[in-house]
Amino acid sequence: MTADTPADAPATPPAFDPFALPPLREVIARHGLGARKALGQNFLLDLNLTGRIVRGAAIAPGTSVVEVGPGPGGLTRAILASPAARLVAVERDTRFIEALGDVVAAAAGRLSIVEADALTVDPVDLVPAPRAIVANLPYNVATPLLIGWLKRIEDYASLTLMFQKEVADRLLARPGSKSYGRLSVITNWRAEVQPLLTLPPQAFTPPPKVESTVVRLTPRANPEPADWRTMEAVTAAAFGQRRKMLRQSLKALGNAEALLAAAGIPPTARAEEVDVAGFAALARAVKDGI
Ligand code: SAM
Repeated sequence: MTADTPADAPATPPAFDPFALPPLREVIARHGLGARKALGQNFLLDLNLTGRIVRGAAIAPGTSVVEVGPGPGGLTRAILASPAARLVAVERDTRFIEALGDVVAAAAGRLSIVEADALTVDPVDLVPAPRAIVANLPYNVATPLLIGWLKRIEDYASLTLMFQKEVADRLLARPGSKSYGRLSVITNWRAEVQPLLTLPPQAFTPPPKVESTVVRLTPRANPEPADWRTMEAVTAAAFGQRRKMLRQSLKALGNAEALLAAAGIPPTARAEEVDVAGFAALARAVKDGI
């Protein structure tokens, strides 16, 4: 520490050069890492691109990062080149654990790999606060992982996540749009969602069928008060029959007309017209037993 560094300033992590290690194509060839479709394996091999994603994540010095699905390590290297204090990467496919050995060695103690199914791991248990998640998510488990993390979003500084574009469109959708649905409401209730970049299939090896979008989610400072389970129940009922008027689709939850009146929503409204504040008001009315 130099004389003018405040005592509580996070230590600057040692420099890490993502390009100093063997190229990712060589790592894949050497370890025979053919992509497994069932595990959503579409790799980013361009380190300039992974660098752009991590710059968009805006990781503050001293932050501990969790990455889900490091694969051959393109994004992993970029995270290590950021000011992140440390990185824990959770990978389900054993083949990559050995292949990541060079990165672990070059990371000088800042990287550890956990071999596990990310659906069974709570990142909050892996690293201390302040913490962030950065991941090019396996598409087959992306939505359940996001829902799990949103439940404790206040425990994170940010989540920077790659989704297939159609899912990202739902996260970014506003009332009245075709993509607006349950996931839009639940996500925007708890988080601010910012699009970072959209990538064509050719950016990946092997290319997926669809475009992908990286979004950055940060916890909303003052989310509308509502209880998580009731919010899930109300949005499930409302969007389960999205073409129907809410006075019809909410019947399973009680006196639909009274609930809508208590929430200040016209009985003829449809789910896609109601904003987050409206759904939270409905959830409160349900919880209050109206
Ligand atoms: N991060 C790498 C990249 O950007 O090139 C790989 C991304 S690839 C889209 C998804 C990764 O998640 C793969 O490495 C895959 O093995 C891993 N994966 C799939 N399902 C997983 C799960 N349930 N838990 C942890 N990792 C998983």
